[in-house]
Amino acid sequence: MQGLMQGKRGLIMGVANDHSIAWGMAKTLAAHGAELAFTYQGEALARRVKPLAQSLNSDLVLPCDVEDIASVDAVFDTLKDKWGKLDFVIHAIGFSDKNELRGQYIDTSRANFSRTMVISCFSFTEVAKRAAALMPDGGAMITLTFGASERAMPNYNVMGLAKAALEASVRYLACDLGPKGIRVNAVSAGPVRTLAGAGIGDSRAMFGFMEKHSPLGRGVTLEELGGSALYLLSDLSGGVTGETHYVDSGYNIVLMPKPEALKA
Ligand code: NAD
Repeated sequence: MQGLMQGKRGLIMGVANDHSIAWGMAKTLAAHGAELAFTYQGEALARRVKPLAQSLNSDLVLPCDVEDIASVDAVFDTLKDKWGKLDFVIHAIGFSDKNELRGQYIDTSRANFSRTMVISCFSFTEVAKRAAALMPDGGAMITLTFGASERAMPNYNVMGLAKAALEASVRYLACDLGPKGIRVNAVSAGPVRTLAGAGIGDSRAMFGFMEKHSPLGRGVTLEELGGSALYLLSDLSGGVTGETHYVDSGYNIVLMPKPEALKA
């Protein structure tokens, strides 16, 4: 099964460090032959992302803050110059003010609502539009979402709305880009202990609860998330688009914890 991504070139957006979901996916794709470019947000992260990219033989490592659309344009201009075409994109970017990832949703400020939506949702549409222009022969894109888009969860607050909108945008983008042979899907990951994950109030306790009460009774690994990216970005999933694909040890199918937990 090695070599599924041989000859394919892709952009990875959202690596902050070696715990990042995007990093787990990048490693799997590179192991299957993909050639990768990376973006990083700000010089502080450059110090972490550049050596990681080098370890996968990638020297295309570009700054990009999605709040600055000129920096997004610059990334795609560079890809056009260096590669001409693109086969796939991973968008693993999310942000909301930490102070509003605790307490009640009803207290969300207008400024943070807009900022969260632009960074965590609309940036995927802006990226998809630019990436699609470099995919004349078709391609595939994925973004990262979380089950609190469909059900309310304490503290996730406005991020839950952003993820719901992101999943809806995946369906609309899939319809827009399907005629060009470009597939668009979301991976809904179970809890992973990353920088973004740690920003959510009480995340340790909530993540532990979800892992314990999932059908598999455990969390998911970066390797498992990498496997889902390999599936959705390779020809293995050629007929799949517009989907939200859960990689969460099955937690999304559970309505109640196991009976033993209720007695405890
Ligand atoms: P992470 O902190 O490693 O990655 C988040 C990334 O978003 C970072 O690389 C950060 O630089 C980037 N980012 C934030 N604002 C940005 C901006 N303005 N411009 C460019 N980049 C920006 O955490 P992660 O958990 O790997 O997060 C990746 C994605 O996975 C996010 O969309 C997150 O919501 C989603 N997700 C995470 C979990 C989890 O439990 N960790 C579960 C489901 C979905």
